[in-house]
Amino acid sequence: MQGEAPIARLQVAVDFALANGLVKLSGDDRLVHAPFTLSPCPIHPAPHQTLSSLTPIFNELAFNLSRDVDFLVEVLESGSRDDPFMARMLNLARHGKGNQPLSMAVNRSDYFLCDDENSPAPKPVQVELNTIAASYPALSSRVQSLHRFLHLGTEREQRLVSDDPIPPLAETFSFAYERYGNAGCVVMVVQRDERNLFDQRLLEFALIERGIPMRRVTLAEIGSEGSIRDGHLMIRGEIACLVYMRAGYGPEDYVAADAWRGRELIENSSAVAIPTVAGQLAGSKKIQQLLSGLPLLSRYVTEENARDIAATFAGLYDPEELVAIDGEELPAWRAAIRYPERYVIKPQREGGGNNLFGAGMVAFLSASTLAQRAAFIVMERIVPQSRYSPMVKEGRLLEESAVSEIGRFGVLVAEGGHILKNRDAGYLVRTKPAARLEGGISAGFGYLDSLILEEPISVNQK
Ligand code: ADP
Ligand code: MG
Repeated sequence: MQGEAPIARLQVAVDFALANGLVKLSGDDRLVHAPFTLSPCPIHPAPHQTLSSLTPIFNELAFNLSRDVDFLVEVLESGSRDDPFMARMLNLARHGKGNQPLSMAVNRSDYFLCDDENSPAPKPVQVELNTIAASYPALSSRVQSLHRFLHLGTEREQRLVSDDPIPPLAETFSFAYERYGNAGCVVMVVQRDERNLFDQRLLEFALIERGIPMRRVTLAEIGSEGSIRDGHLMIRGEIACLVYMRAGYGPEDYVAADAWRGRELIENSSAVAIPTVAGQLAGSKKIQQLLSGLPLLSRYVTEENARDIAATFAGLYDPEELVAIDGEELPAWRAAIRYPERYVIKPQREGGGNNLFGAGMVAFLSASTLAQRAAFIVMERIVPQSRYSPMVKEGRLLEESAVSEIGRFGVLVAEGGHILKNRDAGYLVRTKPAARLEGGISAGFGYLDSLILEEPISVNQK
């Protein structure tokens, strides 16, 4: 493949993508290949090893937080007063009557790699932990296959990182399904007009191959057609044992009549919600900010583990918190106005496109009231390593400087407070042009990518 002319190589890559399920629906309902890079993202072996070793710690952290509902509600309340969506989520968390001891999580922790002045290896810096609707496990496996195909027979082939999230995800669903009693179905809660359909379907097919039926249902359908019988969530005559949320993370998914009732039914039944409302809140930006301090973090994981994960944290601040800058102390929100290129502000939302950067951030903060700012956190702007990357969208090649965000999937199953399974479950890489502020694939700015290990460089050579 390497010797071919660039145009022929591009066409082969596009056809390979279409032929192997690296696909999605376009805005006008056409089947198109998902955006991808032609060349994998190099990673130094040291951060590569570090990232997968951190996954079980983040899983445990999110799990322990999800069991501390009082804490979640207490600390999220003040920033949620002017936010009906968050207020309603908090209310559900507070009053949820589910009596299911079994719990399961599918998380994804996202990082950038940054230059480290103290080490030849780059330093991973966490962007966020996703505890709901962590997407692209299947398309990540498909882009890994594409890159392997494009590098067949080359020296690089041996260094490609194959770490397909689908087998560990499917195996974990299967484990939890058996523990529930091996009957009924798994419900995947989806959006009505999902464009990233095939990423979801490939996971569904992997479950069906393991003898587990999966139904795609919207929250509104659960609300209008579901009921609770003997504690079980019943939908269309079947028991929904596991309810896997690939929707429901933002207010857009609760506009339809009955959608809130759908979420309430899930929460108040014995179905294993992936995640519960509390599990979702554990991944919120405000919680990420609060837990950036070691004393609080050590309430939920061992001190050693707390130190290891804290080493990946960027500066995270409450807007009113004082930060030292230019030899003076000023509230983080004022620091962000003074140095907009050093900060980003984030509201309590998921799914991309909600953060404010640069001039938009300054305009908002300058006119904001205390209460309006309280719905945001201030985060230090991460400056990732960049490289030249060939990126392909709808058959067109774009070559420019790009940055990559690496996500590690993690799965966890627990009964009561006892963790039965907790492991890393492969990766996702999203690459975007360096000039882009956000990099969501679904939002149209990111490109699916895979990892290739850099040749180990001895310290002497550096
Ligand atoms: P969401 O829940 O909307 O996915 P994220 O925290 O992942 O929110 O932010 C969305 C995107 O914005 C990220 O994928 C990344 O490209 C960019 N981003 C987020 N935080 C930072 C940061 N601190 N520095 C630089 N870019 C960031
Ligand atoms: Mg994100």
